[in-house]
Amino acid sequence: MNIVLLGPPGAGKGTQAKLLREYFGLWHISTGDLLRKSIADGTKLGSQAKEFIEKGDLVPDNLVVELLKERLAQPGIEKGFILDGFPRNDAQAGILDAMLKKQAIVIDYVLYLEADEPIIIQRLSGRRVCKNCQQNYHVTNMPSQKDGICDTCSGLLYQRPDDREEAIKNRLLVYLRDTKGLVDYYKKQGKLLKVDANFDAPIVFDGLKKVLL
Ligand code: ADP
Ligand code: ZN
Repeated sequence: MNIVLLGPPGAGKGTQAKLLREYFGLWHISTGDLLRKSIADGTKLGSQAKEFIEKGDLVPDNLVVELLKERLAQPGIEKGFILDGFPRNDAQAGILDAMLKKQAIVIDYVLYLEADEPIIIQRLSGRRVCKNCQQNYHVTNMPSQKDGICDTCSGLLYQRPDDREEAIKNRLLVYLRDTKGLVDYYKKQGKLLKVDANFDAPIVFDGLKKVLL
């Protein structure tokens, strides 16, 4: 089973992807995570991507595609994957189709996580991430036991630069301008499954299972 996750920033794609990975034994491929790792590793690609991410703009297609290609070339991909954060515009959707066709892979479902803007803003502005293990927290919805410290690894929690107010606003605009049109693209292919993502993660996950199974 190969799944694409679609939806605005803050819809909970990363959280649901992890739940899907555990439940179905699929790979989780997050272009956002791959980009942040490139930045943390200090690669050339990472330094080229950094300013776009921090402003909440899309990183140029060629950079993201390069990372994704590497990832899709790794063994084990045939077990199935969850693609989280890609495609994000029409060009990327076309590139993805061509790439998968070459590998004789098809996308089975596109899960569209729908969430309202006030909820999105509340989630993103309160999100904190562990510097060490990338575990996500939220200052009120899902706080760590000790302020600023990760429960699982004792790493320091930080706020992603693109979770600051100005960048959040820009990410929402970019989503509406570049990404949202993909909903129709996949609807026309008969692959779209819509889920209400305005609830807590376990409830949204129940909704996902219901449409998938
Ligand atoms: P979110 O979905 O909450 O915005 P992500 O971690 O998926 O968070 O993405 C963070 C940032 O990484 C995006 O705002 C963008 O700058 C960059 N990015 C991730 N995926 C892509 C992509 N497919 N194309 C271009 N930029 C991307
Ligand atoms: Zn941690």
